[in-house]
Amino acid sequence: MKAVVLRSFGEAGNLKMEDVPVPTPGRGEVLLRVHACGVCYHDVINRRGNLPRTSVPAILGHEAAGEVVAVGPDTPGWKTGDRAATLQRLSCGTCALCRSGRNSLCKTDNRFFGEELPGGYSQFMVAPVAGLGRVPASLPWEEAATVCCTTGTAVHTLRTRGKVRAGETVLITGASGGVGMSAVQLAKLDGARVIAVTSGEAKVQPLRDAGADEVILSRGLDFASEVRKRTKGQGVDLAVEIVGSVTFDQTLKSLTPGGRLVVVGNLESGIVQVNPGLVIVKELEIIGAYATNQAELDEALRLTATGGVRQFVTDKVPLAEAARAHFRLENREVAGRLVLVPPQA
Ligand SMILES: [Zn+2]
Ligand SMILES: [Zn+2]
Repeated sequence: MKAVVLRSFGEAGNLKMEDVPVPTPGRGEVLLRVHACGVCYHDVINRRGNLPRTSVPAILGHEAAGEVVAVGPDTPGWKTGDRAATLQRLSCGTCALCRSGRNSLCKTDNRFFGEELPGGYSQFMVAPVAGLGRVPASLPWEEAATVCCTTGTAVHTLRTRGKVRAGETVLITGASGGVGMSAVQLAKLDGARVIAVTSGEAKVQPLRDAGADEVILSRGLDFASEVRKRTKGQGVDLAVEIVGSVTFDQTLKSLTPGGRLVVVGNLESGIVQVNPGLVIVKELEIIGAYATNQAELDEALRLTATGGVRQFVTDKVPLAEAARAHFRLENREVAGRLVLVPPQA
């Protein structure tokens, strides 16, 4: 089969198509014919060698969608012809954390596709079924591939961790990215009033089109006062922090007393100073959100298939052009999401 193999960490040009053997599914695993695999910024970081759990040679890609073509032994519930999409990471399903629904915190099995497990930059891939969601028949492959990292993350962040309720006001920073655009749509769907923050003027209209009630154009330094103005001095009930360190202070200051701040992204990997007094007197809650579990992915796929949340796939590119796809992503030449399509022969 054809696969893009990374033999040494470094530049985009190191991603090269090769002929490699088709893998065999083991216990609890299926073989997928990959129909589409999203290219995520995470893959760029991985390719550069900045993810310690990846060793070369590696096949990248954690945003795969495909059809089951073989089922390993002791793999109940799955059959050939089933349509599936991958979660970012696995979980064991049996530890105390998994049994309480906190699968994204599981330490027993925390393997990632494209890191410890060969990923979707390939014609075929083996996937443990614990790492798969079910793709509805009506959903195009290229959309199914990107749902987990965008809408799946939004479901986990807004509903599971943020416990969004109808009638609340929700602030979303970094709103024009993949997670942000899904979060805006999902918060609206769940009956919230949405204030989106973006740093790009070109992103204002797409955010309005996605349903944002208010869009604040800001470079990240001064939006809290604007949020106050647009909430009659109240502040927001819930904030989704996708940018991280750069906007954290302003996001915290945007909260109403008793407000919740869910942190799901930290793009610059920076640190922040927090005034504990503010957290104390306003009884603020600072909550982390990480990855997606199987039920959340199924829900995100359902929401996408029924039109509740739209995906923004801009480009379908042949798998052979993976290096070029990385180059474009690194140079910010991609507006929405980019997916690789392996040869289907
Ligand atoms: Zn991703
Ligand atoms: Zn577990």
